[in-house]
Amino acid sequence: MKIQMKTPLVEMDGDEMTRILWKDIKEILLEPYVDLNTEYYDLGLPNREATKDQVTIDAANANKKYGVSVKCATITPNAQRVEEYNLSQMWKSPNGTIRAILDGTVFRAPIMVSSIKPAVRNWTQPIVIARHAFGDVYRASEIRVEEPGTAKLVFTTDSGTEFVEEIARFEGPGVLQGQFNKDKSIESFARSCFEYALSENKDLWFSTKDTISKKYDHRFKDIFQEIFDAEYKARFDEKGIEYFYTLIDDAVARVIRSKGGFIWACKNYDGDVMSDMVSTAFGSLAMMTSVLVSPDGNYEYEAAHGTVTRHYYKYLKGEETSTNPVATIFAWSGALRKRGEFDENPDLIHFADDLEESVLQTIEDGEMTGDLILLSDHPDKKKLSSTEFLYAIRSRLDAKRAAAL
Ligand code: NAP
Ligand code: MG
Repeated sequence: MKIQMKTPLVEMDGDEMTRILWKDIKEILLEPYVDLNTEYYDLGLPNREATKDQVTIDAANANKKYGVSVKCATITPNAQRVEEYNLSQMWKSPNGTIRAILDGTVFRAPIMVSSIKPAVRNWTQPIVIARHAFGDVYRASEIRVEEPGTAKLVFTTDSGTEFVEEIARFEGPGVLQGQFNKDKSIESFARSCFEYALSENKDLWFSTKDTISKKYDHRFKDIFQEIFDAEYKARFDEKGIEYFYTLIDDAVARVIRSKGGFIWACKNYDGDVMSDMVSTAFGSLAMMTSVLVSPDGNYEYEAAHGTVTRHYYKYLKGEETSTNPVATIFAWSGALRKRGEFDENPDLIHFADDLEESVLQTIEDGEMTGDLILLSDHPDKKKLSSTEFLYAIRSRLDAKRAAAL
């Protein structure tokens, strides 16, 4: 009998090559085992156009209602896409819309296999980057100074009080930048990180430059510490995990020396830069999971990569593609496992574990997609098409499920 699901999982379909993989993953790896109970939202660009992007908002609200969603990669329109899809508007990034509604933090983690060695030899466990996705340099105001003058930081309260701080005296040309963040956003970031650490049973590290930025970065440090002490310390103690704050430069050195196995919370810019470094050092974007966690405990699982347009155009020409479905499969397994945890459904949790193990086993056995062939040092590696790879996983999954009966 197929595994039953009590509560619907919110399913957000997407675009191009990942949309093709989405359907194949469901048919080959999920539906034979699970009586999939999903509430389906088509976030493919044609349907976002047809619904004037209402479908994205509806999907995000459904995520809030049920708690867990799984999302396929979607096109973020640019001028070229407006023409290609004959769009009435350059619709906003679906991820941006969903993030604005759920108000969360994005966690990215590498999927590790033994034949793909991290560039840092001692990293034996994944490092998860938690990136604050609001404010700082991404919302900064800038001025190019052309002639001598005085730069001041001015804040006027609604009641008319002015706070003025002289920034610098310019004798000649230069540059100026004003940044901000808000306690409310930093508090959400902190709670998302603490929630995620508890749900993953991993230590949480956080780093800023509070020795130099005594008000701005220090506020981040204080908010994390206050929330930790008031709301999370006891729960961390109970699980035997730790919250650890250090300066960003000390953190960088410690991360390189570490074995991995923790979550590293970063301010917006640090997270942008460090996630590219960490993901590249672990191997490939196609082997990177991504989950949005909201401060009130909603989860949205996806792959970290895009819709793999170049492969899709090959697919449309009838050519066989070798696109890596691993991150998308792990988005499904992550979402099904979380659904299983919320619903106290051990069969569903067990299935998610079996599915992930089957994927890893397939790659460990040397069967993989083209992108991994370049990275793997497996002595007997074999390049499979996307579909062959899914069936290779299926045979391992079948064996596992049969052995368990
Ligand atoms: P991309 O889809 O991530 O692909 C960039 C390149 O990375 C591919 O051409 C391919 O390299 C390689 N690659 C990525 N994922 C792969 C996979 N699963 N298997 C094998 N190779 C993979 O990024 P993009 O081409 O810049 O963006 C395409 C579309 O995706 C854009 O419309 C963008 O808006 C959207 N996007 C969506 C999301 C999201 O929904 N989360 C994120 C990023 C981008 P080779 O060509 O060398 O094989
Ligand atoms: Mg970046």
